[in-house]
Amino acid sequence: MNIHEYQAKQLFKSYGINVPNGQMATTKQEAVNIYTQLNVESVVVKAQAHTGGRGKAGGVKLVSSASAVEEASDQILGMTLVTKQTGAEGKLIEKVLVEETSQIEREIYLSLLVDRETANVVCVASKEGGTEIEELAEHSPEKIAKEYISIHTGIRSFHINALAKQLEIPKPLMKEFRSFCQNLYYLFITHDCSMVEINPLVITKDQHIIALDGKVGFDDNALYRHSEIQKLRDEKEEDPREAQAAQEGFSYVSLDGNIGCMVNGAGLAMGTMDMIKSFGGEPANFLDVGGSADAQKVASAFKLILSDESVKAVLVNIFGGIMKCDVIAEGLITAVKELNVSIPLVVRLEGTNVEIGKKILENSGLKIQAASTFAKAARQVVQLANQA
Ligand code: GDP
Ligand code: MN
Repeated sequence: MNIHEYQAKQLFKSYGINVPNGQMATTKQEAVNIYTQLNVESVVVKAQAHTGGRGKAGGVKLVSSASAVEEASDQILGMTLVTKQTGAEGKLIEKVLVEETSQIEREIYLSLLVDRETANVVCVASKEGGTEIEELAEHSPEKIAKEYISIHTGIRSFHINALAKQLEIPKPLMKEFRSFCQNLYYLFITHDCSMVEINPLVITKDQHIIALDGKVGFDDNALYRHSEIQKLRDEKEEDPREAQAAQEGFSYVSLDGNIGCMVNGAGLAMGTMDMIKSFGGEPANFLDVGGSADAQKVASAFKLILSDESVKAVLVNIFGGIMKCDVIAEGLITAVKELNVSIPLVVRLEGTNVEIGKKILENSGLKIQAASTFAKAARQVVQLANQA
């Protein structure tokens, strides 16, 4: 689960991390009131949406009068912000953060992530903040430093010193940088975060360290331990299909391709996506209907897949273990009839009663293409999706 910048900054503040003074507003009047209360020369009005790249997309405006605050928030509130990360459909903006501007001397990139490979927390940092880290990683990977922090010992002086060296933190700022690193790490660990990204972390002209942006993600599997974080959830920011799948008890992740996948078991689902990719196709989703899926579940999984307009063909790849293949075949037929499926459908069944299952599909008179092997099924569905 992710949260908004204004929520991340409240969290930072409560952990002793400097952030600019400011507040969230949902109307232009509120925005003007915040400006008046802040009683500063200029403020920055920032679109609140779970995406980066807002600056370049017109979602961040520096202004220095009440009327300019009104105009900026009027422009941003209600706009559809399209950034590199949102896709073409963009995000409807319903909240802005109004905060005092900072006098920037330098912009730094700093993030904490869970590194699954080494089972450490990794701090990724670069002297060149402000730009997107993906771009930096591509063009100048040597400018990115990584410090691996063991969760058993936590962040230590040697980590912080190494980071400071890379980031060229001036000596007089070391005390502040040290406590910033410790506070951020402590926040990360105590909230079971999966990522905290500050881009830019700023050194101000008057020599302080301030988090000018903030992105925080939490491990969903640990959310039950953090009721105060759960309250920060913004359902509008979540993929509606993913939310529905969670309600129905499937594992579902939306992807960018055009081949819908219905599979039972997470391992087989991953294998299916690999197989589709190896034949040059792109999966539209990851979907594990679960080992004990019944006809009803198969039907609702189908609905979910077909509600995605980019799906041009569907691959059903199911192993009949607990559920027998003939029962799955019956379920599929019911779902296809009920939903009036018009796009090509390739089915590969394996397991108990597979022959009976295949017969049932053949005799159904429906346009279902039964494939005899996993590889054939993947090749077939990629071809069909390309033709569509
Ligand atoms: P993002 O584009 O979604 O990552 O939004 P950011 O919060 O990172 O803001 C984008 C850019 O706007 C920053 O990299 C800064 O260069 C600029 N910016 C944001 N706040 C301020 C500010 O208070 N003062 C100045 N001078 N620039 C700011
Ligand atoms: Mn940023």
